[in-house]
Amino acid sequence: MKKGNYQKETLLVHEGYDSGQHHDSLTVPLYQTSTFAFETAEQGARRFVGEESGGIYSRLGNPTVRVLEERMAAMEYGASALAFGSGMAAVSAILVHLTKAGDHILCTRGIYGCTFGLLNIMKKKYNITHDLAALATEEEIEAVIKPNTVCIYVETPINPTMEIVDIELITKVAKKHGIQVVVDNTFSSPYLQNPLQLGANFVLHSATKYINGHGDVIAGILVGSDKEEMDVIRGTVQKDFGGIISPFDAWLLIRGLKTMHVRMERHTKNAEEIVAFLKASDHVENLYYPFDENNPQYEIAKKQMTAGGGLISFTVKGGMKNAQKFMNELALIKIAVSLGDAETLIQHPTTMTHSGVPEKERLEMGITDGLLRLSVGLENASDLIEDMKQAFAEL
Ligand code: PLP
Repeated sequence: MKKGNYQKETLLVHEGYDSGQHHDSLTVPLYQTSTFAFETAEQGARRFVGEESGGIYSRLGNPTVRVLEERMAAMEYGASALAFGSGMAAVSAILVHLTKAGDHILCTRGIYGCTFGLLNIMKKKYNITHDLAALATEEEIEAVIKPNTVCIYVETPINPTMEIVDIELITKVAKKHGIQVVVDNTFSSPYLQNPLQLGANFVLHSATKYINGHGDVIAGILVGSDKEEMDVIRGTVQKDFGGIISPFDAWLLIRGLKTMHVRMERHTKNAEEIVAFLKASDHVENLYYPFDENNPQYEIAKKQMTAGGGLISFTVKGGMKNAQKFMNELALIKIAVSLGDAETLIQHPTTMTHSGVPEKERLEMGITDGLLRLSVGLENASDLIEDMKQAFAEL
């Protein structure tokens, strides 16, 4: 494809692929191979030292995976991207890359349960400590930065409380201290939010979610603003820890990406209708949605996101008992963790995604026993609302 200054919708369909180099195949071919045959011994030697481009071994690079990486790098306005076998493989790759024993990582007040688990492993094994903090004002951020802080790890909107963190503010303070900022952008997708444009150094995704969008792949993506540093990660942590994606999963993600813009718009439209319904319901105590006008962080959300997306959290009156009963009464909406799929999914963070987080930390993260997280799918919004209505009627 001739290079142009294309918009996101076009990048999602075309970026990183030139059919002329792949037997004119319209769609990206699946190179389902573990290794690549060299024509001569000398050619193999040249490829290993980087004198000649071309395949070597799929853990070191694969043409299908490369298309996915180029498309994601463009979508996040990054210098380059790396694809991994899970979101957690992307999280662990960047945290291992950025830290050494004795360092400190500063995190937003809430983080995904397994990221929390990883941080605790790093603390136990390598004395890499961490703190969770609200990071809401410049003074607050300055107060929690330590001399050994090397990384600020941000989730926004935070899983599952939907709290919004001001990316621009954090990167501004971090730069003064020479600290790198990593943003987990899973909840927004690159269609709704681009942290690198707000000054972050790295952005990552559980590509399992909106990148794929069809609930049939576990994968991760890391995008960086500095090509040289990304090349270092490709040649070290990614290559030697080996948490790479399979070519088939990369191919499925490329297929998913083609419809991301259409999906995100529909997820958002459905979510907006459901927010209005839940806000009017007597059974709902609190509701958290980035673009809800009553959200105290609405202005920050509008500054850094182009739409509210498909995730809503809310508390049901009556705590855990009623939250679980409500879930059990649903007929159409599926009880499942994960998010960003065509199917609407509901989960109970206290007993599911964040069950590994001790109660004290969980409550500090704002995850109360009655909290539910809804990932709004692509169904008809009225059908979803009817399902919730009949479930509420049983409480
Ligand atoms: N980050 C967030 C915000 C998540 O919700 C998840 C998974 O739910 C992950 C990271 C980890 O991704 P994966 O399950 O693909 O390893």
